[in-house]
Amino acid sequence: MGSEKKIILVTGGSGLVGQAIKQAKQQDPRENETFIFLSSKDGDLKDPAATQRIFERYKPTHVIHLAAMVGGLFNNMKHNLDFLRNNILINDNVLQSSYKLGVKKVVSCLSTCVFPDKTTYPIDETMIHNGPPHSSNFGYSYAKRLIDVQNHAYHQQHGCHFTAVIPTNVFGAYDNFNLEDGHVIPGLIHKAYIAKKEGKPLVVYGSGKPLRQFIYSIDLAKLFLFVLREYEEIDPIILSVDESSEVSIGQVAQIIADAFQLEHGIVLDSTKADGQYKKTASNKKLRGYQPDFQFMPLKDAIERTVQWFNLNYNIARK
Ligand code: NAP
Ligand code: GDP
Repeated sequence: MGSEKKIILVTGGSGLVGQAIKQAKQQDPRENETFIFLSSKDGDLKDPAATQRIFERYKPTHVIHLAAMVGGLFNNMKHNLDFLRNNILINDNVLQSSYKLGVKKVVSCLSTCVFPDKTTYPIDETMIHNGPPHSSNFGYSYAKRLIDVQNHAYHQQHGCHFTAVIPTNVFGAYDNFNLEDGHVIPGLIHKAYIAKKEGKPLVVYGSGKPLRQFIYSIDLAKLFLFVLREYEEIDPIILSVDESSEVSIGQVAQIIADAFQLEHGIVLDSTKADGQYKKTASNKKLRGYQPDFQFMPLKDAIERTVQWFNLNYNIARK
């Protein structure tokens, strides 16, 4: 807070959330803040020496830690071990280098899919460690849960101000639009793009019934800046739209099909997995800090993302 000079290192700065933070900080700049956005080209954060070199080079006072192996349901189901190991390594290196170099505050990123599978709803911040995560993505989930454990341990032993946010499903420009490995919204946008060209229906995996709360990357980025600048707790905070904004996968697919004006509708491929039925999260804590925050309506945010994908088809990750 205040006007002290901040050097803010953003790990994973080239991805979906990092690019959105780049845009959000340009719209809401502070004179005392200098941001550095990293990509994997700056060094492999799985490697402790490479991580320490990056920290020694930039001497950050603050870190937004986004870098991670990230993927949709079907990528997670195939690679639980890789998600576990890679993310444990990245997180341990980033937090330990932050401690060694005297970083004043780290904001890391969990996800609502790391919560217990068998739980009561809505899920809140106190419930992270209350039972096993869904079996489809247990590798990613346990690695991410450990960040919360590490944050408390660094605080207890060294007094570090390391905290975390817990976003729901994110989407927007610069997402991973890969047909099999990405998340549902970018995956369906890419499929709809092809379906439009070929005059075919949009194929949606699973029953279309699972429920999700989606947050537009720009909204998440604005909330990330609030957490960086003002949030003082070590305990994490859920960054989510309201519970009333939860939608089914079928509804989301329809919004995407409409955005492309598909003429052959949607078909469900029920041979494919549904994953977790729902993970409804409470944003009560967030609303306590930010009662008036306006989320972009899902339809508008999806239309913007579709527009971005159409305009940037050649450079989009796919
Ligand atoms: P993303 O678009 O896939 O971006 C991942 C970023 O991490 C990229 O900048 C990538 O660099 C970097 N990275 C990956 N492995 C690295 C390594 N070994 N060394 C250095 N950098 C590495 O992911 P995202 O969706 O923005 O996710 C950002 C954070 O939000 C993650 O922590 C994720 O777990 C969390 N999150 C995401 C969602 C979601 O729905 N997407 C939901 C909840 C939480 P390159 O670009 O160079 O590859
Ligand atoms: P999750 O929220 O962590 O489960 O991850 P996803 O973003 O991958 O969403 C998965 C949900 O969307 C599951 O219910 C899938 O069955 C459904 N889905 C439907 N079509 C697709 C698709 O093309 N890609 C992905 N990733 N999921 C899809």
